[in-house]
Amino acid sequence: MTIGKIGVIGAGQMGNGIAHVMAVAGYDVVMSDISQDALDNAMNTIRGNLSRQAGRGKISEEDMEAAIARISTTLALSDVAKTDLVIEAATERESVKQAIFEDLGPHLLPHTILTSNTSSISITRLASRTDRPEKFMGFHFMNPVPVMQLVELIRGIATDKATYDTCLGIVERIGKTAASAEDFPAFIVNRVLVPMINEAVYTLYEGVGNVRSIDQALKLGANHPMGPLELADFIGLDTCLAIMNVLHDGLADTKYRPCPLLTKYVEAGWLGRKSGRGFYDYRGEVPVPTR
Ligand code: NAD
Repeated sequence: MTIGKIGVIGAGQMGNGIAHVMAVAGYDVVMSDISQDALDNAMNTIRGNLSRQAGRGKISEEDMEAAIARISTTLALSDVAKTDLVIEAATERESVKQAIFEDLGPHLLPHTILTSNTSSISITRLASRTDRPEKFMGFHFMNPVPVMQLVELIRGIATDKATYDTCLGIVERIGKTAASAEDFPAFIVNRVLVPMINEAVYTLYEGVGNVRSIDQALKLGANHPMGPLELADFIGLDTCLAIMNVLHDGLADTKYRPCPLLTKYVEAGWLGRKSGRGFYDYRGEVPVPTR
């Protein structure tokens, strides 16, 4: 199937990155959010990131302007429905995603493929609430989208081959690499990564180390490019907690219990970089550990 126009739902850190890479690859993009501020911020971020790429010679000024011109924004979900492919990248809460797919339903074109960028929620369950589970799958980008090479492609139990092949073709066209994952909680990357982050928060909670020593230990001792707490702030602590809850509920194993300290940070609204404070405080010139 030929894809020309892509709808992106949610203009947060993932949605704007997805819109960016799709527009650069030549797709027309319509991006929606419930917040006009989020849409404005997303366009500013896309422009800023593209300018940086242009400054490094990775894209010409002309191609950058053409990519920006291919992206339109809307507050109306129905505008997103009239596309060949929808990528849902709204907040990681199942009720939010279910409501989005339900509202989209009546406005969809018969051939529209539905995908979710969810980090952990069951693709099969999300698909089962739509009129087209065979045209539904997980399209899981990594953060930051313009930089990270991997896209996880997750088939629900009903996803058909044509849908999978279409999404695989898009991954190839945007110059990224796909890894195929089965539809079990948190798929591959987050099944391994987020419990490691949660364990780092336990290490902090139990006083084995402080924020700086834990991050330094993993960076220098395990050769990780970022420490786990720094990475948690980058992902968003609400998203990390949501993923741990999905693992805990979905696999019914106590080894996935979210660390109470992670819950406390989220309850405080200290969600990491996106809210200005998490395991580090980003409000000054340099990030300062909060513990
Ligand atoms: P975010 O908090 O930065 O952005 C979420 C956006 O969704 C917000 O702008 C919010 O206004 C919008 N939104 C909420 N309800 C909506 C609705 N009903 N309709 C339209 N927009 C709505 O979150 P994010 O980090 O961009 O995560 C988005 C999705 O991507 C989540 O499913 C998350 O699990 C997944 N994801 C995140 C990462 C990461 O590292 N942050 C990586 C891969 C996948």
